[in-house]
Amino acid sequence: MTEVLTRDSPVRFLKGVGPARAARLLRLGVQTIEDLLYLFPRRYENRGVAAPLASLQAGSFSSAVASVVAIERKPTRKRNLSLVTALLSDGSTLAQAVWFNRRGLEKILLPGSKASFFGKVDRRGGFLQFTNPEFEIIAGEDGSPGQRTIVPVYPGTEGIYQKWLRRLVSETIGSFPGDLTDPLPEFIREAKGLTPLETAISQMHFPTGREEWARARKRLAFEELFLLQVALAIRKQGYMEDTEGKPLTWKGPLMERFLAEVLPFPMTGSQERVLSELARDSSGNIPMNRLLQGDVGSGKTVVALIFLLAAADSGFQGVIMAPTEILARQHHRRLTDWLSALGVPVHLLVGSLPSSRREEILEEIASGEPCIVVGTHALIQKTVRFGSLAAVVVDEQHRFGVLQRGALAGKGDHPHVLVMTATPIPRTLTLSVFGDLAFSVIDELPPGRIPTVTRHLHDPDDPRLMKFIAKEMARGGRVYWVCPVIEESEKLPLMPVIRRHEILAERFPEEKVGILHGQISPEEREETMEAFAGGDISILVSTTVVEVGLDVSEATVMVVEDAHRFGLSQLHQLRGRVGRGSSAGSCFLVGRPGTDEGRARIEVMCSSSDGFRIAEKDLILRGPGEICGVRQHGITDFRIADLVKDRRLLEEAREDAFSLVRSDPSLSGFPDLRREVFRKLGAKLRLAGTA
Ligand code: ADP
Ligand code: MG
Repeated sequence: MTEVLTRDSPVRFLKGVGPARAARLLRLGVQTIEDLLYLFPRRYENRGVAAPLASLQAGSFSSAVASVVAIERKPTRKRNLSLVTALLSDGSTLAQAVWFNRRGLEKILLPGSKASFFGKVDRRGGFLQFTNPEFEIIAGEDGSPGQRTIVPVYPGTEGIYQKWLRRLVSETIGSFPGDLTDPLPEFIREAKGLTPLETAISQMHFPTGREEWARARKRLAFEELFLLQVALAIRKQGYMEDTEGKPLTWKGPLMERFLAEVLPFPMTGSQERVLSELARDSSGNIPMNRLLQGDVGSGKTVVALIFLLAAADSGFQGVIMAPTEILARQHHRRLTDWLSALGVPVHLLVGSLPSSRREEILEEIASGEPCIVVGTHALIQKTVRFGSLAAVVVDEQHRFGVLQRGALAGKGDHPHVLVMTATPIPRTLTLSVFGDLAFSVIDELPPGRIPTVTRHLHDPDDPRLMKFIAKEMARGGRVYWVCPVIEESEKLPLMPVIRRHEILAERFPEEKVGILHGQISPEEREETMEAFAGGDISILVSTTVVEVGLDVSEATVMVVEDAHRFGLSQLHQLRGRVGRGSSAGSCFLVGRPGTDEGRARIEVMCSSSDGFRIAEKDLILRGPGEICGVRQHGITDFRIADLVKDRRLLEEAREDAFSLVRSDPSLSGFPDLRREVFRKLGAKLRLAGTA
């Protein structure tokens, strides 16, 4: 290695890496020296404590330590195939190893040398036989000392490649790039007894034992969590430095009238508490940035509405963004009903508006008249300009990318921002993805709710289910029936919405059966939703377009067909569509799960109605990206850290990170840390400033 390596040097600069091998490494995601150093083993083999040959199982992949008794190259009948056969012994048992087309092997594995072998074991003619095993010489035929006994096994190709990769990694560690500095402040590293970076990387590849490996891993995981928390702390710091927010008036005339004359129920204690948190945060000139969590049906909408009224009372505009048009229209309907008596204009801005209507609304919004705007992604288009936006609500935030809330907030002049999520997100994820926000939680349901009973059925035509539905409808209840796909497909044997709609229409000729999916025009969807909410339609067959937010209090039955196809939080959301009024809801999860994971999900749903518990399970089953829609931004794509296993470490990292940023907001005393945070997360989190 003649060149001085930097972390960004391409692996091609390494000795022995030509174009072919560089291409192979690229397939493992390795382009640079840093990538190579962070290509950690998938597993390790402990070749020091190999099992006796006699205990090997035919058909398994196993390792064993044995001496070479004899080795020879044998001709085969096929001319271009050469075969090397070795006779092995561990002192009490004999075994055999064969390799195809491995030139020169007999010159390395000399008789008398001791090696560990790893590979597929079969039984051939009374002998146990390794076929094409990997091996590592432990002692030469002269008894010279061997190499390490714990050997890393990398992801990717098995075979000689592993050995080559091991050497490559080991050499690269030997000339560790000088610019890959340890970003952890020394005082934190020392206080926590964390291994320095270079040592940790080396020990991850070549640990001498489990404890050393665990310490190395912990250090690297801590670093990842810490860097993210520092970035979030910097973001939060940025919010605190902004003093250009507009103080909102609470308990103004609109809010007072709404609470006294319009609101049909008393607030729950949780709702009251959250409102006082919002009032405290938004009545000053530092813009609020708050996350509101609350399980499905806990009553987040009305809290958001009161926040928006505070903006209107203060002479400003407020906006609420929902992930689907159906939900935006429902919010619009509800807000219009509630606010018509108060004379606050409520506008709807969604993709399907006729362009003339759209122009009108855009003009009114741009004029700055106090109003409330409800919409979808359509709100964050360039052409949308708000004249005096002071309050921003993002509903069902987990359905949006992390940065979309920023795009909407960017429409205002330092507005107060409230993001809401109904999928309760496990605390570890909340701290990672929303760690820059203040948290509020609604942790009780409105009084009088009866928990929804969930059952698993194998057969959608189960007569018991049909009888149950008929009975519910006779009592005035309404039924959601959700299928995974719209149309028949040859590839997936799943029940399509269209077919189920026909079947149910035939089965219940005296009832009106509606259909709802993404291919139906928005106007028709709106009509169908209204008919379902109003009771003209009593069974609504749909895709998951009904998943989030819909609120029809007469709906009492949710049937989910091929339920194992859906994610846990999706199922929880779907179930949350029923049991929202004072009558009990029932949820039927139908299907024959073919995988353990599918069975596990249904099992969790049948045994728990607690959104937080379900979210924890979801995190374990699916991983973080899927839950929060953050995959594309990669914020939680940790190389080492694991939000399930490392929850304690996360809390520690958060505490250290926030206290560090408090004491040194510009990280001027920690240039290496600052550089690394901006390098890894500056763009992803849109951190202000440069490294
Ligand atoms: P989510 O938190 O899932 O968005 P919603 O805001 O849609 O829930 O509220 C669910 C239902 O509960 C709505 O019909 C709403 O009007 C009703 N609700 C909200 N708060 C209360 C309350 N304090 N008492 C009674 N009903 C309430
Ligand atoms: Mg909601």
